Amino acid sequence: MKTFVHRGQITKVAFGSGTRSRVPEEVDALGGRRVLVLCTPAQVELAAQIGDQLGATAAGTFGEAVPHTPVEVTEKAVAYARSVRSDSVLAIGGGSAICLGKAIAARTGLPQLALPTTYAGAEMTPILGETEGRRKTTRRLPEVLLKTVVYDVDLTLTLPVAVSMVSGVNAMAHAVEALYAQDRDPVAFLMAGEALDALTRSLPVIARRPDDGEARSDALYGAWLAGTCLGTVGMALHHKVCHVLGGTFALPHAETHAVVLPHVVAYNGPAAPEAMARIVQALAGDDAAGGLFDFAGRLGAPRALRDLGMPESGIEQEAELIVRDGYWNPRPVDGTAVRALLTRAWAGEPPS
Ligand code: NAD
Repeated sequence: MKTFVHRGQITKVAFGSGTRSRVPEEVDALGGRRVLVLCTPAQVELAAQIGDQLGATAAGTFGEAVPHTPVEVTEKAVAYARSVRSDSVLAIGGGSAICLGKAIAARTGLPQLALPTTYAGAEMTPILGETEGRRKTTRRLPEVLLKTVVYDVDLTLTLPVAVSMVSGVNAMAHAVEALYAQDRDPVAFLMAGEALDALTRSLPVIARRPDDGEARSDALYGAWLAGTCLGTVGMALHHKVCHVLGGTFALPHAETHAVVLPHVVAYNGPAAPEAMARIVQALAGDDAAGGLFDFAGRLGAPRALRDLGMPESGIEQEAELIVRDGYWNPRPVDGTAVRALLTRAWAGEPPS
């Protein structure tokens, strides 16, 4: 007999090709008359194009979003938002721009929209991670959930292959942990499985043909579903490990997920047989952890934390941090096992 609690999402989602043309009407639908546009320095040109589309509704552009949402950048952006009297926020780009939008919303209450251009999925979650000094803290705040997300597949065509691959595996990690989440529900399980199917189908095609529109559409669709999973059910050891490592060593976000995922799946496998069976089905293989390791490797994703800048001397301290806070995981988190897992991930060895 099934027993579950399901939380639905309230974000309006528009998906397709050329959908960026909808942005002015979506801003208008939220009552936006002076929208602040956010992006990273690498995407100011795209932001300028969307700004032109918005005409006088664009109050200004803040193009200094960076990964991990440092509070000093947020404070500068909030001051700018106030100086141009913004009444809404439009984030264009990946998780860096979108999380800056959430950080502004947490401080000002401004409604947000996004045009996502990576597969990170931040646009579908009420999660706000912020960095102060070297410390990254994460909160779930319902008030930072976006009102509207416009997915335009065309905007992902420029995402470099290497970034597309690790960003895609980052999305797969949300889906994997949703399959065995403590509060998983039948809808989340279906979305997670569908996300894995779409991403395992599309990423190898994109690796060969980055401008394949169908594959790009499939990958973004999978990323939306995976992001929705991340936003609706709790994550476990994998996200904890990536969060701790990212915070201490400022490791690149998506790459860290790509390296760590097979190792956590190997650890959790014995405690989550239903999830493992769904991963194996998506990979059309016979082993979830080994299959993910091989899949990410074939995509050219990095395999070793040492190649991302983590020092070997950090393993001990990180294992302690990962084990310290109590949080749910399908298999109880054991310090010795986490140290062994980190050691293998650091060296780039296969999961076991
Ligand atoms: P990112 O936003 O930093 O983007 C990576 C780089 O790719 C940037 O330089 C960006 O300008 C560029 N880029 C993005 N889209 C492009 C495109 N289509 N074409 C060309 N270049 C493009 O990376 P990300 O992995 O999307 O996001 C990482 C950040 O998001 C981290 O800070 C992470 O903590 C956060 N995140 C938060 C959540 C959440 O729910 N709170 C979820 C996932 C990620």
